[in-house]
Amino acid sequence: MSETCGTCGLPRELCVCETIAKESQKIEVVKVKKKFGKISTMIRGLNQNEINLKELASKLKSRFACGGTAKEGLIELQGNHLKDVKAELVKLGFSPDTIDVK
Ligand SMILES: [Zn+2]
Repeated sequence: MSETCGTCGLPRELCVCETIAKESQKIEVVKVKKKFGKISTMIRGLNQNEINLKELASKLKSRFACGGTAKEGLIELQGNHLKDVKAELVKLGFSPDTIDVK
């Protein structure tokens, strides 16, 4: 038996909720200065009910070969990836119009 989506009730393979969510997010990418002058890149505005943040974070972490965390609608990546995050999110199915790089 296949798993069904909690939002639309369709089997996971037919569900487009995540696709729709990806197109309707308002995502902000910001650079954050941490303690000791460390820089990290924060992606916020992600809808954690519709986007699998952990999965997204792990894809980005392996793409940028960096550490990072995912929690409560935001993903934080170690290092400055401001220039590359948008292109990578677009590759993963997000619409470029929804991504605002500060
Ligand atoms: Zn669904």
